[in-house]
Amino acid sequence: MSHLLRLQTFAMGSDFEVFAFGEDRQLLRSAAEAAIEEIERTEALLSHYLPDSEVSFINAHAATEPVRVHPEVFDLIARAVQLARETQGAFDITVMPLVRCWGFYEGTGKIPSAEELAEAVERVGYAHLSLDAEELSVAFDTSGVEIHLGAIGKGYAVDRAIEVLRDAGVPAGMVHGGHSSVRAYGSLPGGSGWQINLPHPLEPERSMARLLLQNHAISTSASTEQYFERHGRRYGHILDPRSGLPVQNDLLSVSVLAEETTVTDALSTAFLVLGEEGARQYVRQHPSVQVLFLRREAEHVEWITTAGNGLSSHEV
Ligand code: ADP
Ligand code: MG
Repeated sequence: MSHLLRLQTFAMGSDFEVFAFGEDRQLLRSAAEAAIEEIERTEALLSHYLPDSEVSFINAHAATEPVRVHPEVFDLIARAVQLARETQGAFDITVMPLVRCWGFYEGTGKIPSAEELAEAVERVGYAHLSLDAEELSVAFDTSGVEIHLGAIGKGYAVDRAIEVLRDAGVPAGMVHGGHSSVRAYGSLPGGSGWQINLPHPLEPERSMARLLLQNHAISTSASTEQYFERHGRRYGHILDPRSGLPVQNDLLSVSVLAEETTVTDALSTAFLVLGEEGARQYVRQHPSVQVLFLRREAEHVEWITTAGNGLSSHEV
């Protein structure tokens, strides 16, 4: 007889869930427990809030001298820098001075003065990081630079947990981090994947799209997730690292489909910053990536994918 086991944990500010499907109940339990431990281990390495994490150590010392880091953390930072390059800096793990300056770190929100903003913009940009792959070290070129993996870390943790399930021999599995990043492999009996429901950003009880996920990952970023209002304007928590300003465009939400949640998590944030045209251009150059947009005032989600050599889009 087959079983579906579900375990959960709270990490990186989100509820993670691990689903393991198969016949061997004992295997499912031990693998799912190991996957949960993996998520917690990942949080301990990457968290910006835990004073003993690798990331906190880098932030405290990398402006003074190159800091040698855990190989896994080095690789993730290197991937984040590569994703920053590919998105022309729309996704950038050095965005923290801006997050603070707009009051999102404390969670209250405030409008910075022009001086504060200019000072923060100076300390933001992946060009401030230098990585030495031989020494496995990270250095900042000036003080006040900070690494923050908030827009990629959850995705990375989901990838790690999926790897643990697979390595343990679990026939089918699904893991999500706070619903914003989901990855699945294999399928339930009679199905061709795991049914995923994408809630509408404005009416969470309503679904904006349903899809069957198999051997794929999907992440969603929404401009409505966290914001504050001043003088009738909304300021959202996704910031453009280049201008220093909160993203303001036509997109309510962006979902990205690809193989790994590390990539989809970073890209969903990047595409919200780049806007529709920038995202289309990225997909053209990376045919394994697909995007779902929900525009403001629009009823339906638009799905952008590459077919043959061109881009195709349809509504769902
Ligand atoms: P969620 O955690 O809801 O999935 P994201 O993955 O989009 O959301 O990450 C949002 C967090 O990333 C923000 O709270 C902020 O700390 C940080 N952030 C904001 N703008 C950027 C950006 N352009 N690049 C990288 N990180 C960002
Ligand atoms: Mg993200």
